[in-house]
Parts: sequence; C-alpha cells; structure tokens
Amino acid sequence: MEEIRMVDLKRQYEKIKPEVDSAISEVIESAAFINGPAVKQFAQNLSGYLDGAHVIPCGNGTDALQVALMALDLEPGDEVITSTFTFIATAEVIALLGLKPVLVDVDPHTFNMDLDATREAITSRTRVIIPVHLFGQCVPMDPLQKLAARHNLAIVEDTCQAIGSVARVAGGGEMKAGTIGQMGCMSFFPSKNLGAFGDGGAIFTRDDTLAKKLGAIVNHGSFKKYYHDYVGVNSRLDAMQAAILDVKLRHLDQYIQARRQAAQRYDSMLQGHPDLQIPVRDPGSTHVFHQYTLILNPSVNRNIMQQSLKAKGVPSMIYYPVPLHMQKAYMDEKAHPPGKLPVSEDLAQRVISLPMHTELDEKQQEYICENVLDCLEKNK
Ligand SMILES: *Cc1c(COP(=O)(O)O)cnc(C)c1O
Repeated sequence: MEEIRMVDLKRQYEKIKPEVDSAISEVIESAAFINGPAVKQFAQNLSGYLDGAHVIPCGNGTDALQVALMALDLEPGDEVITSTFTFIATAEVIALLGLKPVLVDVDPHTFNMDLDATREAITSRTRVIIPVHLFGQCVPMDPLQKLAARHNLAIVEDTCQAIGSVARVAGGGEMKAGTIGQMGCMSFFPSKNLGAFGDGGAIFTRDDTLAKKLGAIVNHGSFKKYYHDYVGVNSRLDAMQAAILDVKLRHLDQYIQARRQAAQRYDSMLQGHPDLQIPVRDPGSTHVFHQYTLILNPSVNRNIMQQSLKAKGVPSMIYYPVPLHMQKAYMDEKAHPPGKLPVSEDLAQRVISLPMHTELDEKQQEYICENVLDCLEKNK
C-alpha cells in the first residue's frame, strides 16, 4: 500500500508530469514571468469554467479577500459578518482594513454559517456578508441572497475550499460557487482543490465595473502605468503558477469526481457508527470535499484517537481547533462574546478530518477506516 498522506500532491503530479513540465518550460523560454500570456490564458480558461464570470488573478486567497473588500468603498467601523468556524484569513482582512468582523455561529451539521444567527447579527452598520463555503460545500445561497438583498448588503463569497461546487440560487437555478455574490475569492494554495506549486489566488465577479476596479486595485490601483486612481496593492499570480494551474484546471472536474468517490467510500465504511457522524450533505449545494470531516461523540478522546491513528501511519487534522471568536486577537465581548457561540465551540472539540485527496484508493481507505473503527472500540 502507498504511504497515506493527508494530501498527496506528489502522486497527483506524477500523473500529469509531462503536461506540467512542458507548461513550465514554455514560461521559462518565453521569459514572460509577470502578467504574461500564461496568466491571461489561465484567467480566460477559468472564466470559461465559471460560466463567464470575470477572473482577476492575484497573489493568494487572503489577498483576494482583502482586495474584494477594498473594492466596496467601505468606511472604518463598517461591519462585516462572517463565520467564526473558518480559517483566520477571512476575519483577518476585515480587521486589517479597519472594518469590524462580526463572527456568527455555524450549523451543527454542515459547519457553514447559520442563517438565523446571520440575520440576528445585522445592524445599521452592516455592509457585507462573507459566506465561507467550508470543506467544499456552499452556504445556502438562495436564502442568504434574499437576506442580503433585503438589507442591501454585499455578498463576498470565500470560495477558497469550494471551487466547482454548485449551489441553488435565489430566483431558481444553480450557479457555481464564487460567482453568486458580488464577488468570490479563491486560493490556489497547493493543497486546495485547484492548487498551484506555490501561492496564488483570484477574485471572481460577474459585474463588469467591479472587474475593472479589481484589476486596478491588484495593480497598485492603476489602470495606466504610473497613474493611480485607487489606493491599491501589489498582488500578482506569477506566470509559472498560472501555467501549472491551467494544466490542472483541465483535470479539475475529474479531480472533484475522485474526491466525491473517496467520500462515498468513506461514507459506506463509516456510516451508522454510534460514535461518529459522517459529513452531512446540504440539499442546497453540491459537495467537492476539500475535506472529509467527521464529528465524534463527546465521549471519544480525540487526542488519543489522533495519536493511535498516527502510530498506524494514518494522518488526520483538526480543522479548526479554535473558533475565531476565541482567538486572542479577535475576542470582542460586544460583537461576538468569547464562549458564547456554542455550536462552533463544541465542533472545535469534536471534529476530525481524514486524509482526502485525488489519489486516495480503496485499499488505503479500508486501512484508514479499520483503524478509525478500532480506535473507537478501544476508546471506550
Ligand atoms: C486557504 C483559505 C484562505 C486563504 O488562502 P491563502 O491562499 O492561503 O491566502 C482563506 N479562506 C479559507 C476558507 C481558506 O481555506
């Protein structure tokens, strides 16, 4: 059996090595390393994948979130609502821009932001909602869009974990994650579902005016060299990464299929066990399984379980051990009291993510699940 990795980028690369290597060589030979044809081509192809949404490449997913907020003409102290159960970047950029992060609790089954909590968090200063499509499944966008429209709020989707996922939207029909709100933000961090060999990111939008503005903001706020219309940043996707991503984009749907298949195999091996809950599918969204995350019963000692799994060569991760409202840097007694978003606090104690990637095979998964079940047995 192949060594089990949390994410197996090595074996994924081996399968597409000739394509990737020649794409890299082409960039080197062209010597167009910054904003060259490779970046343009990838942005165009990704736009095609996203049914025509504009794609503005940038340096990473955190920059994508920051630049999206910068494009909205917000004022210091304006409130931005997002999930407390996410990667830190989502709240970090809000705080960095002098805006106020308002963190809300999540649904106990899907891990995604709770819409009742979101509604209750809206005040006269709220300007933006950032739904985080966690682990590869979209926040229920249909009701969220209606809520945002009623209060005249922008939606900036954090799509970093959910590219290719499809959600039911307001007014009927379905749309791809990241193209539903005013903007969507994507990370091409290597372990993401569409991952580069380094950092990368992009902002998506269907709004032509916003697209132009975003393109300027990532380029020092400039449309024309040495003329600056906005306060901007320097955030670029480099050509080598774009060329690699363009190759991997051609395989993205097959990669998603492989993840779904792996998730189904996990489901069939683990479902019905009284000590754990397998991932719940939201009827309003498809799932692209960036992570396969179990919820353990409170009686299970997760630390011991992780250690025993590790001893057997089975890696696992905790996404996320501390919700953002419990982080020292983000505690705010008024906006989101520490200790008072119970679902996220409980999940943080009980979630465990199993290896999930495009190269997982049935033998590896049988071995993983045998050991998971064995740990649960011994844990009693
Ligand atoms: C990865 C990730 C980010 C940040 O992306 P980087 O490219 O690492 O900056 C933001 N939000 C979520 C939910 C992520 O998973």
